[in-house]
Amino acid sequence: MPIMIGPPHYEQMLHPAIKKNYGKWLYHEHVKPGVIKHVSQTGDEVYTVRAAIPKIISVDFVRMLCDIADKYSDGYVKFTSRHAVEFIITDKKKIDPLIEELESKGMPVGGTGKSYKPIVHTIGWNHCHTSVIDAPGLAKAISDALFEYFKRNDLPAKLKIAIACCLNMCGAIHCSDIAIVGMHRKPPVVDDEIVSKFCEIPTTVASCPTLAIKPKVLPDGKRSVEINPERCMYCGNCYTVCPGLNIINPKYDCLSLWVGGKVPNARSPPMYSRLVIPYLPNNPPRWPETVEAIKKIVKAWIENAREDERIGEWIERIGWEKFFKITGIPFTDKHIDDFIFSIRDFRTTTQFKF
Ligand code: SF4
Ligand code: SF4
Repeated sequence: MPIMIGPPHYEQMLHPAIKKNYGKWLYHEHVKPGVIKHVSQTGDEVYTVRAAIPKIISVDFVRMLCDIADKYSDGYVKFTSRHAVEFIITDKKKIDPLIEELESKGMPVGGTGKSYKPIVHTIGWNHCHTSVIDAPGLAKAISDALFEYFKRNDLPAKLKIAIACCLNMCGAIHCSDIAIVGMHRKPPVVDDEIVSKFCEIPTTVASCPTLAIKPKVLPDGKRSVEINPERCMYCGNCYTVCPGLNIINPKYDCLSLWVGGKVPNARSPPMYSRLVIPYLPNNPPRWPETVEAIKKIVKAWIENAREDERIGEWIERIGWEKFFKITGIPFTDKHIDDFIFSIRDFRTTTQFKF
């Protein structure tokens, strides 16, 4: 019986050369920025060309990518989670013409090996109601500032940046070298009229992870909710299920900067990113304060890290004390985690590195 729902099996979408050599790859090497060569036990060589594209694209743009794929990569094209596009090539002679065509159409080729990868980011004001920041706009501002590193392959290690426009963090924030998280800083404002008309009270109460919401009955008998501000952590979950609990507050909403996350590799286990700047102003359209702070951290890492050290691994070696000293970022009381379950994250030794 055929499966009638869900996506097709990924194997159907693989480039024939990838399918043929599945599980037989011997090694890969970075030929030049944006080009990776894979060599198989069968003797086959396959080249991947990576280019940066915007996250939000039109049908015309997708058609153009398909035309390029037809011309160079047997009609196969792959989108990466970091908003890049990849073409698999078996004919080495097609690499340079493909790069030329991509670049001429505004898609820079790069982001492989020890380089700055395209930013993985959430959707921002375009689509999501709890958004603090216009994540795609901020991604563009940061990418413009770091663009030279996208085209190079000589950073200490790969550099991954992520942006989430609110605390729900629909992105790789926790495991990216540098992360920006949009922060609400005030509890939602309850609009009794909207809550009583549009919201299901039990669902709204249950949506709060910190049990800050409780039901209330209005003098006219209608039902609404009230929020205990002491318990609220400004996550916006309740606003997602009830439009009467508006958490957007342009005066107080801000950005925060996190550093040192990564997934596991052969050298070290996974690392969670940690807070380094608790407040940066939400300053569109170019967010100069945030861009400057990121440039400062990247520069310090490039100048001080050893070969192959991701930002988190570099900090682990020199110590957070030294990281704050080198980057000139002030350490404040806001860096101390007072969440009820934070004890397991606390330092449990008296060894400090200054
Ligand atoms: S991070 Fe928050 S605001 Fe951004 S898309 Fe996800 S839920 Fe929406
Ligand atoms: S913002 Fe989050 S913590 Fe605050 S009341 Fe709503 S669901 Fe609860």
